[in-house]
Amino acid sequence: MTGKHRDKKAIILVLLVLVVGLIAGCGTGISNKAEHLYVSKGVLNLDEVKWNDSPIIKLDGEWEFHWQKIIGPAEFASKLEELTHYLQVPGLWNNAVINGEKLPPEGYGTFRLVINSSNVQTGIALKMPAVYSAYKLWWNGELVIDNGEIGTSRELVRATREPGVISLPIQQNENQLVLQVANFEYYRGGLNKSIYFGSKELLLKERNFTVIRDMFLAGAVFVTGLFYLGLYFLRKSEKVALYFAIICMFFVLRSLLINEVVISILISDFDWAIGNRLEAAFSYLGVPIIFVFFSELFHGVINQRFKKLWQWSLPLLALFVLTAPHKVYDNLLLIYFIPLVLSGIYVYCCIVKAALLKIQGAFPLSITGLIFLVSGINDILLNYGVVKTYNIFTYGLVLLIISKGYILLRGYVQAFAQIEKLAEENKSMYMNIRALNDNLEKTVNDRTQELLAANEKLKCLSTLDGLTGIPNRRVFEEVMGQEKELAPKNSTHLAVIMLDIDFFKEFNDLYGHLNGDDCIKKVAQALYAYALENGAFAARYGGEEFVLILQGKNQEAVAAFAEQLRQRIEGLCIPHSLSEVSKYVTISLGVCWVTDKNETSIKKVLDEADKALYQAKQKGRNRICAVGLYPKTPDS
Ligand code: GH3
Ligand code: MG
Ligand code: MG
Repeated sequence: MTGKHRDKKAIILVLLVLVVGLIAGCGTGISNKAEHLYVSKGVLNLDEVKWNDSPIIKLDGEWEFHWQKIIGPAEFASKLEELTHYLQVPGLWNNAVINGEKLPPEGYGTFRLVINSSNVQTGIALKMPAVYSAYKLWWNGELVIDNGEIGTSRELVRATREPGVISLPIQQNENQLVLQVANFEYYRGGLNKSIYFGSKELLLKERNFTVIRDMFLAGAVFVTGLFYLGLYFLRKSEKVALYFAIICMFFVLRSLLINEVVISILISDFDWAIGNRLEAAFSYLGVPIIFVFFSELFHGVINQRFKKLWQWSLPLLALFVLTAPHKVYDNLLLIYFIPLVLSGIYVYCCIVKAALLKIQGAFPLSITGLIFLVSGINDILLNYGVVKTYNIFTYGLVLLIISKGYILLRGYVQAFAQIEKLAEENKSMYMNIRALNDNLEKTVNDRTQELLAANEKLKCLSTLDGLTGIPNRRVFEEVMGQEKELAPKNSTHLAVIMLDIDFFKEFNDLYGHLNGDDCIKKVAQALYAYALENGAFAARYGGEEFVLILQGKNQEAVAAFAEQLRQRIEGLCIPHSLSEVSKYVTISLGVCWVTDKNETSIKKVLDEADKALYQAKQKGRNRICAVGLYPKTPDS
């Protein structure tokens, strides 16, 4: 991580803290504004209050308390002499000692507070917090608010958890507040939150603000949770997204149950049997899911056995919260906070370690995680009346959720960037491969063409005579072998002409070998052209000897063909001064003509033609000797 990045993160973090701090600051306005008048020995004196400043007074201090007694407001005058005890409000009575005995959480009692005022005041209200115990509140002899049903036994008591703001006109001199409280359900008995008293307008404003703030946060976290839930459904491997979504949903549920208890506004006559279980689910399941989430996120640093332990505990805990009697899970919660806080400290230490190891996202979480941890511990202690601070867990949790959400999101954004980079690399690799492939194809094509050309050349070389360019003897033999197929169907006539240049040794001697070659070439090309014109086949037989095959021509036609050929060659007028028969190069021809080639062997025809040629030489050269073969009439 570069310094620049760390700076950026730090800025984001400061902004986060500022935003949450701002909301928190607004929210705790009521306690900041509250005047510090103290209830002493059950009496509060309002003489010093400046009523024009819309004051808010916290009714904290020593209230009269009658344990195991439910006393009506009218009865108090006669019971005053029995009073021996004062109890701290806010405070749980299970933290109090009366007559040397620690009070149990279960029980009932009556609180009384006398408020003295020198003059009459209107526009004043009392703001009751959401508390676990059932109560009835009497003001100057009149029942003004209750929280469920109170009584002296478990069966009679039914606690709801509805906070409220109620108008209370202040009368001159003495005002009496009687609060009958009973608790048989919770580990927390009594009033563990402050009661506010003062300007009705301000108190209502404060309550509305709290509702709006809590719902705003809940809405934001709900949408965030939905987003991550969607992410999980689209990509099942994203376990962190699922855990994060569950944490968000727990937060939303919790938001409905705390502070102004919005759920009781949304659902009239809300069943607190369900509410209690939901609330317990948050502590029993919500916080462990946060541990599992972090174990998943920093799996390299957080022991995976720790993660497994909480993971396996989750369904058991869920079963426990769903089925155990309320009293059991409520009482066990206090013990359960021990592993919870210890695990929280362990996870936090791991996050700090991850931050030191410069693992991405660990640094901001090491700060928000600490705030979360401290706020959690604070609220546990506050809830059990150990400390007298404010509820700050919500802010710790919001901060944690925002920072976690941000880190997850940043992780995904980085993953997308990586994918884009890889896709780009892939594309260029693909282009390279394609170019190589195209090249390869072209090379293969070129090579193939070259090979084909070479092959063709080779074939030509093996079939054509190198000097003259006309078919060689090998081809001639092939043609002779295929003669049956080559012949026209209606004809069996075949003639073979062997020819040889006359006095060629002398030509060579006189004009030299190169001119000799040239002469052979001219003769060959002339006779080849002539053969083509007449549908005959011509080849160089060897040296200055050539051979021709004619088909479908009768004796006269063959004779005429041979004669014309002889004239053509002489007509080339290649000078040959040593020839004894002409001024020019001449040829001698031996013709063998057959009427039924099927009955005659090729070899025989050739032999006969060769013999005829020999005769032509013998007879003086520059002439034709012909011989006919008539296989069917041997005597002819
Ligand atoms: P004849 O009239 O009886 O045929 O007499 P000739 O001198 O032509 O005798 P022959 O046909 O027996 O001799 C062929 C000569 O042709 C022998 C050789 O030197 C020459 N010859 C054969 N092939 C080539 C060749 O490719 N180039 C050249 N320049 N001369 C060749
Ligand atoms: Mg010869
Ligand atoms: Mg010759």
